[in-house]
Amino acid sequence: MPVLTQLAGRLADVDRRVTAAAERAGRARAEVTVVAVSKRFDADAVRSALQAGQTDFGESRAQELRRKAAQVGDGVRWHFVGRLQRNKVPELVGLVSLVHSVDRIELAEALAARARAGRASTGAPAQRVLVQVNAGEDPRKGGCSVGDAGALVSRVRELDGLVCEGLMTVPPMGTDPRPVFARLRALRDELRARFPEVAALSMGMTDDFEVAIEEGATIVRVGEAIFGPRPA
Ligand SMILES: *Cc1c(COP(=O)(O)O)cnc(C)c1O
Repeated sequence: MPVLTQLAGRLADVDRRVTAAAERAGRARAEVTVVAVSKRFDADAVRSALQAGQTDFGESRAQELRRKAAQVGDGVRWHFVGRLQRNKVPELVGLVSLVHSVDRIELAEALAARARAGRASTGAPAQRVLVQVNAGEDPRKGGCSVGDAGALVSRVRELDGLVCEGLMTVPPMGTDPRPVFARLRALRDELRARFPEVAALSMGMTDDFEVAIEEGATIVRVGEAIFGPRPA
């Protein structure tokens, strides 16, 4: 089958599953954004998905994102979903629509400083970010602890140049993700009562995006269900 047809078929299938999961939870399909995580897939795969109507794409390495963004050109909303080092911040601000992985204040400060510089020179808008929370307390996963999240969000939202729009998590592998998603949602509900702009919940990947939507995800990050098996 031609690559484009196959990709369009997988995208349609993911869309059906998103719609069904939203329906089960009494939610509207429009509340959920699908980010196609294209890490390790090439620019052709991104182009094909773009042609099939997918507009939001995610990457977990700054260099790879920059390379693909240059190859693919306009029309893509890029998301950064991986661990981020401060020295990579200049490569991303101005290019990335949403950074999902702010997990410490030093990183937020670097992003804010870069966003302010962009605003001064080109009138660029504020950098939109999510705070990543290690809601499953997995030592191998990034993110601040559940206990630190409130303080971090409250500091991040005070930084000129950033808008903190919500929370993100990656649950531990091999365990039931539902309680982890529920914990992130409860935390978001608590924070949103104080900070109304903290509304987004980025959670759910190929193996668990339907559960995440049932638990309130507004953004799901889906790679293999869209692009097929990821190259090593
Ligand atoms: C790779 C990755 C995804 C997508 O994973 P799939 O299993 O391919 O859906 C989502 N989120 C993050 C943070 C990732 O690194």
